[in-house]
Amino acid sequence: MYDLVMKCGAINLRAMELLDAGNTGHYGHPVPTKVPLGHRKGKALLVSGHDLMDLEKILEQSEGKGIYVYTHGEMLPTHGYPGLKKYRHFYGHYGTAWQNQHREFSQFSGAIVMTTNCIQRPVESYEDNIFTTGLVGWPGVAHIEDKDFTPVVEKALEMPGFEDDAPGKTVMVGFARNAVMSVAGAVIDAVKDKKIRHFFLVGGCDGAKPGRSYYTEFVEKAPEDTVVLTLACGKFRFFDKKLGDIGGIPRLLDIGQCNDAYSAIQIALALADAFEMGVNDLPLSIILSWYEQKAVAILLTLFYLGIKDIRLGPSLPAFITPNILNVLVEKFNVMPIFTPDEDLKAILG
Ligand code: SF4
Repeated sequence: MYDLVMKCGAINLRAMELLDAGNTGHYGHPVPTKVPLGHRKGKALLVSGHDLMDLEKILEQSEGKGIYVYTHGEMLPTHGYPGLKKYRHFYGHYGTAWQNQHREFSQFSGAIVMTTNCIQRPVESYEDNIFTTGLVGWPGVAHIEDKDFTPVVEKALEMPGFEDDAPGKTVMVGFARNAVMSVAGAVIDAVKDKKIRHFFLVGGCDGAKPGRSYYTEFVEKAPEDTVVLTLACGKFRFFDKKLGDIGGIPRLLDIGQCNDAYSAIQIALALADAFEMGVNDLPLSIILSWYEQKAVAILLTLFYLGIKDIRLGPSLPAFITPNILNVLVEKFNVMPIFTPDEDLKAILG
């Protein structure tokens, strides 16, 4: 059984690699990009989920119609892809992670499309302006087939949209493997010169349970000579924090969606190569935000790669029996999170 689970991790690594090749091959490698969190006067269309091709089709089909397209949830990193950011009406990001959709979607006065998982039962305030496509669906919600988003565009035109310009805060995205490796020399020098003491990969799934403020606090308390890499929905706990930079290298680097764990793995492997050491010996700690069975394949990939000392929280997955936990602790030294202060002290000494 153990071997089978490791094989699952290996196959998921290959699946993420293929997805990465498809996305970067078609849309180019993400580049550092500033994304507004506010809105623009005009009609509005919100795209959530993960599917870049659906987003591309929506951008193509809504172009030149006075509609601004916004991302929600895991779509945020798509602003960094050259093949998508070229659309002038691809404006900004609205809202945070999946568990906040009732509140956030109720306040969005445009059409909404869910391209992948993590939809919640729509409430009355937006059940007529939400659409699903691809594998995602909900009884009673209009489903888009064959990438023809005409009903979505029509709905966006029908609705009021935003009445004013309110640019709001901005966040940076686009620090996937290509962007980080292009400054690898500067990063390596900063580590050698002791300007960067440690890297934290803080990410994973988000959820509504209390206790997830740990991740916000952890990032806020991470010392100024440390760099935080992030990915997936967990980032919404701190994605708009201004952490500054270390010699021009931003202290908060958004690698991308949950599936972009592939990119994070490549960055870790490249650093290990540059420092001539194993990934487990790097000044890198992985702090995962866990939500039941979601994204479990990514955790299995990390185990398959032999990555140790992962901290998981705010609670362990329900399927982890005492026996499974023993195996994970024995082989990978998996540990629960405690408090940000305790964990930072344990990691940094
Ligand atoms: S990171 Fe987790 S919660 Fe977010 S979309 Fe991916 S699977 Fe869902």
